[in-house]
Parts: sequence; structure tokens; C-alpha cells
Amino acid sequence: VRSLCTSPAFRNIVKSDVADQEQPTGNLVNTVFENVTKWGSKTAVECSVTGRNYTYNQLLDYISKWAGFLINLGMQKGDVMAIYMPNCPEYPIALLGAISIGIIPTPINPKYTAEEFVKQVSDSKAQVLVGDPGVETAIIEGINRYKKPLHIVMNGPTKVPGALNMLDILSDATIPHADTVQVKNEDIVMLPYSSGTTGPPKGVVLSHGAFSINIHMCMHNYFCLTEEATDSSQEAYVGLLPFYHVSGVLCQMMAGFYKGAKVVTMAQMEPNNFVDTISNHKVGILHLVPPLINFVLHSPLATAEKLASVRVIPVGAAPVYPSAVEALRQKLKRNVFFQELYGMTEILIASMVPADQEKIGTSGKLLPNVTAKIIDTATGDLLPSSSTGEICLKSPATMTGYFNNDEATSATVDKDGWVHTGDVGFFDEEGYMKIVDRTKELIKVKGLQVSPSELEEILRQHPQVLDVGVVGIPHERSGEVPRAYVVTKSKISADDIHSFLDNRVAPHKKLSGGVVFVDELPKTNTGKILRKDLKKMAMG
Ligand code: AMP
Repeated sequence: VRSLCTSPAFRNIVKSDVADQEQPTGNLVNTVFENVTKWGSKTAVECSVTGRNYTYNQLLDYISKWAGFLINLGMQKGDVMAIYMPNCPEYPIALLGAISIGIIPTPINPKYTAEEFVKQVSDSKAQVLVGDPGVETAIIEGINRYKKPLHIVMNGPTKVPGALNMLDILSDATIPHADTVQVKNEDIVMLPYSSGTTGPPKGVVLSHGAFSINIHMCMHNYFCLTEEATDSSQEAYVGLLPFYHVSGVLCQMMAGFYKGAKVVTMAQMEPNNFVDTISNHKVGILHLVPPLINFVLHSPLATAEKLASVRVIPVGAAPVYPSAVEALRQKLKRNVFFQELYGMTEILIASMVPADQEKIGTSGKLLPNVTAKIIDTATGDLLPSSSTGEICLKSPATMTGYFNNDEATSATVDKDGWVHTGDVGFFDEEGYMKIVDRTKELIKVKGLQVSPSELEEILRQHPQVLDVGVVGIPHERSGEVPRAYVVTKSKISADDIHSFLDNRVAPHKKLSGGVVFVDELPKTNTGKILRKDLKKMAMG
């Protein structure tokens, strides 16, 4: 192992310390369960509240039963199935069952309003929706608006008209099991939504090949700290990071199953349940996002005793501050290993702190198969990798493109295959990547995406709003929060704006950064909002 980035030949192009991994072929489900025979009778997934759980063998059985059900329903390879559920033991059944027969899951944030979920169902052309009784009201409202045919399956008893019950389906002996089908590496595996560098959320087309190799890239022993299950031991993860996002589905669900871990699901953050889950299941590797670090730091419930089993904290989605890490170590009275990682829906996980080389405040080193370069944010010219500029990445885990949106695809992935991340940073002399800023519009609230364009589009529908620009402002607990600068036709109050958004957007998209009324917005001469100038206004 050697660091190539310091060699003169690689001054501009940064490579991984470790050799490329071979591309696995075939269905992603086969990659996830590559080693499953070693731990078939161990618990794969368990609900942190009810204790409802499935062993690996049961999980595989239900996955093929669910696949059989989808086939019975008339679904075919390439059709889309939406999942609108919080993390729960049935989530991997729905997701991996569909994937096993080439049906494409599009995961939806369970906090989304009826309007938001209908938008995604309609854009992705989903034919089946798997929902949770907790989002029943939004589903009933949504299907009344949607009006197109949609098979609905609920994970439990429900009042949704015409819906089937997932648990009945899984125990129905008349439904035949279906085998995992062969796929090509480039076949679509999943369609999560991301706003990328600009514009509203778009479907991100990810392939079986991209996900499969990314699992192998993350699991390389230079980076991975999860111990494989043995007869006498098994890692437990808290499955709190959302399964509708790459952080949850890849780093927790799939990586956990790959190593034979027990994934203990949490539908939402509930402080007592969170700390009890860690201590009852002796969680060793605790995946967090920066706002959860704050929780552990400040909550009197999160004591050194309760968290005594934690030895590694992988953390990503937003920058981590060294001072918070230091304070957390003091609170836990131990040198917990902080493993920052960097990823993006469009390229999956790209960098991670190596297993024995912690460097707080950096996003780690490039995973195998990933190459990086830094370009000038204004001219696009290649810079030495130690200069600050836009980070461009090349990886076999790159998306195929945005769903039905070639223009957005070519604005993000150039003709040579470089992904222009919209993140600004540099590499230090040892090859650690450091993110310092973003050129893209994206706002990250508690690690979750908020698209300013999406909020602006909604706010422009307010009868009294003439023009609006949204930017993120720093926030102690959430990292960032959205603020709107609004030009109105006649006098209205900030409350009018807030209540207009109330039923339209999920809680993390609300304007917690406030509403500011202005006479005009800073714009280019072609009429585009100058977000940089708005941001300057916001920062005072
Ligand atoms: P998403 O597609 O939701 O995963 O968001 C990807 C974006 O999150 C990246 O482009 C970064 O802006 C941000 N991000 C992810 N990981 C990190 C990290 N370790 N440090 C700073 N920003 C990060």
C-alpha cells in the first residue's frame, strides 16, 4: 500500500492507495448475500421497538416470496415499485425482493407529504406502492390526486381502500417463491431521487454493477472495520440512517447483510430507544450523521455507560467538526474511532478514512477504483490536487444518468466520465480529501437534501409572491436550514409563507432559516438568481 498522490506523475490525478477491485457480475442481491450461508440462522434484521425480527434464512425466504408476489401481480423486469416506509424489518424484503427479479424500487422519504410522494410516484411511473400505516393519511390523499392505477400494499392493517397487507402476502402459502434473475451489470437496480448540483429532485438511475462494486469497494479491509459474523459473534448496527438514502441502504442495510450483522431498525429518532438499542444490542459500529453527533454530545441519556460497546463511529453526509469529535471522546471517556466518509447519491460512496489511519476533519481517502481531480471553479482548468477547487470524481459506481433528463446528466457527468460533484475541496499531501464548501445549490438539513429550486417553484405558486430565492444558512443543530428571500405583490406576513408550505413539504424543507422580504433579488442579466449574492446577504 502506498500513497500515489504524492508522486509527481499523479500531482493532478489522485488515486486510491489500494488496487482496484474486480467488478462483480450478476444480480446485486447475490452480491449482498454472497456469504450468507455462513450465518443463515442468525438474526438479519430486527425492529428496535417491537423486537419483530427475521433470520437471514427467513429474510431470503421472504425476499423470494415477495418477488413471487410481484410476478403474480403482473410486474415485469424494468417496472418500478415505490417504497414509502420508514426503516423497518420489512423494508429489505420489499427492496431486495423487487431487485432480485429486476423490478426497480424507487425509495421515497416517509416524511414526504402527499404532494411530494405523488410527484415521485408519477415521475418514476411506479406501478406498485409499498406503504406504511404511519403514512396512511398521505397515501389516501395522494391516491385521490394521482388517479392513475397503482397497486398498494401496506405493511400492516390499513384503511387505504383496495390495499393489500404485506404481512398476509408473506405468509400466503399459495404464492410461489421466485428465484433471483440474471441481469446485466448496466441494468437499473434502483431509482432514488436527488437534486444533484442544481434544480429540483431527479431520479438517479443506478445500476446493479454500480451498487455491487461499491459494496466491494467499501468492504475492502483497508477501510472496513465491521467484523464478519462467526459462530460466536455478530456485529449489531442501529438501522437509523434512512433506507431511502444511500447512507442507510448501502452503509447500513447492504453492508450489514454482507458481513452478517444484525441491523436493528429505528423508524425515527427517539432518544431513549436510540441509546437503549445501542446498549441492549451492544452496537460496536454506530453510523451517525453530524446532527446525531450533537445529540450524543448533549443528551444526558447518551452516557459513557450506555454507549460502552461503541468502538467505531462512521459519519458522513455533511462535514464533521474536530471540536465535536474531541468533546464526544471526552464524554465517552474513550478513544472511539471516527471514520468519516463521503458519498453522493450520484456516485455512491467515494472516500472513507482508512481502518487504521484516522484523520479527523477530513473525508478520508479514495476508495479503490475511484480517481479524483480538482478543477478551478471559475475556468474548469485542472489544478494541482493540493489546491482548492471543485472535486471531480471518476468511479465505476457512478450513476447511469438522471432519469429521462439527459441535459442534467451531461451537466454533471462530463464526456470523459468525470462527475462534477459541486463540492469544493482539496487533497492533502497524504491523499486525504477535505471538503471546504459547495458550489452547488443543494442545502443539507440534518444530512437530508433540500433543493432550493423545488422550494422556489412551490413558493412562486403563492398568489402574492412575485419572486423568491432560497439559500441555506448555517444552523447549529441541523448543519444548515433554508431561508427564503421573497418579493411580494402586496404586503403579506412571514406566517402566510410558512403556512403555505405547511402541507406541501416535509418538515426538513420548511423555512427554519426564516423569511426575509426584499424589494428585488440579485440576478444575472439573463434573469438567473445569483445565489452567491443571496448567500452573502444571508451571512450579513
Ligand atoms: P447525497 O446525494 O444526499 O448523499 O448528498 C451528497 C452531498 O452531501 C455531497 O455532494 C456533499 O455536498 C455532502 N457530503 C456527503 N458526505 C460529506 C462529507 N463527509 N463531508 C462534507 N459533505 C459531505
